[in-house]
Amino acid sequence: MNKIKKLETDYPIYCPFCDELIRGDEEDGPCFYESGECEHLIFVATDCSFEEFTERFCKNMNVDLEKVKSLDDAANAYSNIDEFTDNVTIPGSIKYAIYEGLGGSLGAYFGFAPTDK
Ligand SMILES: [Zn+2]
Repeated sequence: MNKIKKLETDYPIYCPFCDELIRGDEEDGPCFYESGECEHLIFVATDCSFEEFTERFCKNMNVDLEKVKSLDDAANAYSNIDEFTDNVTIPGSIKYAIYEGLGGSLGAYFGFAPTDK
């Protein structure tokens, strides 16, 4: 997975494959989030937890959600969600890592992958 680091001033976030708006900027509210019609988004997470993820992502990460309580538990095997999500192996996948707050103390992560079509 290609990792692209961004700054919090880089909002809004658009899908790199279809240009769908994924997360708006401050004017839309601090937590404005739009999963919309984008079929490339495979996960949205912060350092605290996953906000959204697809079956495709779980399959690629070898996470069986019937065996682990949550994806957050699976990520606990790694030092953090940032490191965990670096391990996606879907060809062409892209991760935006946005470090927010003082000294970039809080991360937000958006994973995208091309569709098979
Ligand atoms: Zn898309």
